[in-house]
Amino acid sequence: MVHCSLERMKDKIATFSRFGDTGHGGITRFSLSSEVLAARAEFKKRMAAIGATVVTDDMANMYATLPGTEPLKAIVSGSHLDSVRQGGNYDGVLGVMSAMEALETIATEKIPHRHPLTAMVWTNEEGARFEPAMMSSGVICGKFTKEKMLASVAKDQPGYTFGEALAASGYVGDEANRLSPDKQCALIELHIEQGPVLEAEGYDIGVVDGVCGMINYEFTFIGQADHAGTTPMKYRKDALYAAVKAIQYLHDELDKLDPALVYTTGKISAHPNIHTIIPDEVKFTIDARHYDPAVIEQVLAVIRKMPDEIVGCKVSYAEAWARKSVAYDPLLVDTVEESAVACNYSHMRIHSGPGHDAQYVADILPTSMIFVPSVEGHSHCELEYTPAEACAKGVDVLIQTLLSLDRKLG
Ligand SMILES: [Zn+2]
Repeated sequence: MVHCSLERMKDKIATFSRFGDTGHGGITRFSLSSEVLAARAEFKKRMAAIGATVVTDDMANMYATLPGTEPLKAIVSGSHLDSVRQGGNYDGVLGVMSAMEALETIATEKIPHRHPLTAMVWTNEEGARFEPAMMSSGVICGKFTKEKMLASVAKDQPGYTFGEALAASGYVGDEANRLSPDKQCALIELHIEQGPVLEAEGYDIGVVDGVCGMINYEFTFIGQADHAGTTPMKYRKDALYAAVKAIQYLHDELDKLDPALVYTTGKISAHPNIHTIIPDEVKFTIDARHYDPAVIEQVLAVIRKMPDEIVGCKVSYAEAWARKSVAYDPLLVDTVEESAVACNYSHMRIHSGPGHDAQYVADILPTSMIFVPSVEGHSHCELEYTPAEACAKGVDVLIQTLLSLDRKLG
């Protein structure tokens, strides 16, 4: 059994955690920022040091490739280096470091492989500065048009576009280098779970078989703005009170559905939001996720049963956006599972709640993911943590998966 180097992994975690270090346990490393460019340079330097050829495509995605012994398509692994504001040291970057570590292990131990092996960095997964999230995988996999993405404006710098930041990065390469079924045959993304399940259930490895579908609906409640001191309760049309009743209705009804369903009201606004005025317009969102489309249908049925008037206020709703469940490639999922068994690490099958670049890639290439536990489930915050030993177990499974696919795939 091939094992990665725990010491080399620890060194990478410590090194990459310095790029965008907030000084209190996490990083702020926006896409194409000077902090992310420093992390890219480190990736390039370390990959060149093992003899990998590093190229970029027209969306500045990076590909570091070790040649194989046969003229076959490459097997790819990777993730992203950008983070949210005050994010952690593992989301995304662990997948990049794991792909690097897999190639470093295979190169230094001179393990023969027939396929070229590629470690990859995706540009702008988080969408924290330039929306949307999963931008460049979306462009490459035909979800977004490139022109629209280049015009995306920085949230913190009016008028500054993603296209300008991309051109200034020095990492724009040839469109011919894009990930495609012509040149690559499989992709595995290792990622932290970003939830508490693996740790709570006591598993080392999550064998990710797909991504949950989700819907996001926005509800609007229209009441009447009146004076808080003069309007008796029975004459009021309080849009916030109507919204509260609606949220209670949704919780009561959605809790009757499958226990694996998760749903959230994460955004709410009240107008005019002044303490002396009864709110006349309130909006809130509900985000619901489940792997089974039939359960999402049940959620929609609950939404449709919402009364169109609550405490005298008009109720309306509209879909803000939705995404279908994605099933990962059965051969790859099984290979990850067999690899966890071969490494003697405990494992469970799991769906991904969050979105990842791999889910777009699943449209063009056989794809799967490996999850490692997140301590207390924290993610997208500075508390995000996975011990190096737990990361190394994930890398061992990744190496085993790459070598196994090298044997299985033509
Ligand atoms: Zn991520």
